[in-house]
Amino acid sequence: MNEETRYIPPTVIPASIHMDHFEEKIAIIGGGPAGLTAAFYLAEKGYRPTVFEKNDMAGGMLRYGIPSYKLEKDVIEAEIEVMRQMGVEIKTGVEVGKDVTLDSLRAEGYKAFYIAIGCSAGRRPGVPGDDAEGTFTAIDYLHEANCGGKEYTGRVVVVGGGNVAIDASRVSARNGAAEVTQLCLESEKEMPASQEEITEAAEDGVTIKCGWGPKEVLTTDGKVTGIVFKKCLSVKNAEGRFAPTYDENDTITIQCDRVIFAVGQASVWEDLVKNEKVEFNGPAIVADKVTYQTTQPDIFVGGDVYTGPRFAIDAIAAGKIAAESLHRYVHDAHMKIGRNRWEFTEFDKDNISVPSYDNSSRQIEGVDSSVPAKSFKDAHLTLTEEQVKIETSRCLGCGATVVDPNKCIGCGVCTTKCEFDAITLHRNHPECSKMTVAEDKFKEIIPYQLKRAVKIALHKKISKYIQNNLLIFGKIMI
Ligand SMILES: Cc1cc2nc3c(=O)[nH]c(=O)nc-3n(C[C@H](O)[C@H](O)[C@H](O)COP(=O)(O)OP(=O)(O)OC[C@H]3O[C@@H](n4cnc5c(N)ncnc54)[C@H](O)[C@@H]3O)c2cc1C
Repeated sequence: MNEETRYIPPTVIPASIHMDHFEEKIAIIGGGPAGLTAAFYLAEKGYRPTVFEKNDMAGGMLRYGIPSYKLEKDVIEAEIEVMRQMGVEIKTGVEVGKDVTLDSLRAEGYKAFYIAIGCSAGRRPGVPGDDAEGTFTAIDYLHEANCGGKEYTGRVVVVGGGNVAIDASRVSARNGAAEVTQLCLESEKEMPASQEEITEAAEDGVTIKCGWGPKEVLTTDGKVTGIVFKKCLSVKNAEGRFAPTYDENDTITIQCDRVIFAVGQASVWEDLVKNEKVEFNGPAIVADKVTYQTTQPDIFVGGDVYTGPRFAIDAIAAGKIAAESLHRYVHDAHMKIGRNRWEFTEFDKDNISVPSYDNSSRQIEGVDSSVPAKSFKDAHLTLTEEQVKIETSRCLGCGATVVDPNKCIGCGVCTTKCEFDAITLHRNHPECSKMTVAEDKFKEIIPYQLKRAVKIALHKKISKYIQNNLLIFGKIMI
């Protein structure tokens, strides 16, 4: 990503449009990974999309949520610069729904909208005192920390067991907290945070206590002085839904002066889709699962705002799919034909008998020991050349996984190649083509071959005749 050597992907513009780009204006609302990815792929297809971002800088949670010791901010800036050079316009400090509206953008000529506003509000647990002075949501706390943050030497309690909670704990430890204690409902085995993050938090001096839920935040003169936890007996109900049960009499109290809640996130819609025909199912916006088109045809959604909080790579995948939908929509193309529907069955990896199946574990990157502990610098190294070779040799070589509808003739050979029998062909429209069973294939092939042979023989004869006559004509002329 170095400025001098970075690769700027070419934008592919169909020769038929006789212009250097598609003129259809597309607005992307939200400059997080979903929105930026949609912009990237639209630019690659030949558009000049505009990203509207309410923060001062684009990047979404990659910039304002994930701490820099996990993702350096110059990496995001370099990626964004590539998009700018490909023709993406990024307007920061613009909140759509407040500074401009979807209708005013329509009046400016925008033909389609991609709403990728993420889940930018942190939740509080709804216990007494949870809004006292000294309480924060992890989202707000990490946002502030990513904007420069402040030293804080007091005792911090973080509530939650996911990666966001771990980030809040580790950032608190880096910002000088005397003591960081993290408590979560789940047992150590059930904690949603990754094992790698839990280990690294322990290395940063964070104490993690499992099996406790918040009961009450203690205050004096409106300021936090401690927090009471009750024993969590179970986190999910018989259907696997989140429905914690507690022993209200089994409690612990932790003295502290700051409490950070990492207990969930929500989208902030404000007036963004006021008067639009989009529908909601509870807090979730309704959209087609293949195209992400909402019930208002020119509005598409994707990323955390559609799925709820997930991983950056999910938002990136959603943005790529959205670019295809937006491209089709502004050109009145069919929205669904030839789309990748991600319909696959996951293998039972513990029970695979195919000998070529790869059972080696993935390569783990090294750590730069010269980076001091509790630094905001990312100490993770990239994979070495050797590791890259080992990692790529794990590829099962199953062949193409995405069908190019312009190339696939439905011959079915691919279905015979996969050792795992993972590829199947479906005829979605059997009425549109004629199929022949294997036993009858010669009945179809022989007449066809005869017809072809006659055609070829005739063609050869005619070509020869023309060639000879042209030669004679040429000689006469000379
Ligand atoms: C603290 C934290 C740590 C995380 N760590 C990891 C991790 O280690 N690995 C991982 O894979 N994932 C991680 N995630 C999850 C990942 O960051 C998200 O899944 C991803 O960023 C979602 O992308 P998005 O584009 O849908 O939304 P976001 O990244 O939230 O981006 C949405 C953007 O829309 C903007 N916006 C909102 N409303 C408007 C409006 N009305 N007008 C204009 N702009 C608007 C917001 O300012 C924001 O920039 C983490 C998340 C958090 C919160």
